[in-house]
Amino acid sequence: MEEKNNIRKEVRAKIKQMYGWEKDYYGKQILQAIEANPLFQQAQTILLYWSLPDEINTHLFINQWSNEKTILLPVVIGDDSEIRIFQGEEKLAKGAFNIDEPIGEAYTNYHSIDLAIVPGMAFDKNGNRLGRGKGYYDKLLSHLTCPKIGICFPCQIFPSIPHEEWDERMNQVQTTSL
Ligand code: ADP
Ligand code: MG
Repeated sequence: MEEKNNIRKEVRAKIKQMYGWEKDYYGKQILQAIEANPLFQQAQTILLYWSLPDEINTHLFINQWSNEKTILLPVVIGDDSEIRIFQGEEKLAKGAFNIDEPIGEAYTNYHSIDLAIVPGMAFDKNGNRLGRGKGYYDKLLSHLTCPKIGICFPCQIFPSIPHEEWDERMNQVQTTSL
């Protein structure tokens, strides 16, 4: 627990020091690699996330791909979250933690989801993931059977991430070289 918090602190400090153009540059490379990934190319229904400033920027990517694929986004509801369909930027509203979330009904057809692209504070090469500390993605991903790809800046890759029994592991982690 202590170790997890130390890594979160370290990552927060590192990302604070990154320039905006650096984040954009890495983000573009990472999302290009996602577009080249057969898991993405074959997926029709994809769980993504509408990024916050300290995450890989997914806004343009979602706006573009939502014309071809069904893009789902998480919505925080208390200690849990549900999934809703992205129906355009104008149909997002600020929710908990200042995250823009889709308005509308919950999407509960979990088995139709082909791929989840997941943000994180840190990942290791074995797919272990560290979140912000509330376990939202652990709970959400426990409903899904599809492959999960973690995406992060290079400075968020650690040799090993402590993990507990409830932690959901990624099938792949996509970053880019420094
Ligand atoms: P994060 O994944 O955000 O880094 P943790 O893995 O430390 O955070 O989990 C935070 C809390 O969420 C833990 O105290 C854990 O009990 C709770 N949690 C995680 N997954 C589940 C789950 N599937 N069901 C219920 N509680 C969960
Ligand atoms: Mg966790």
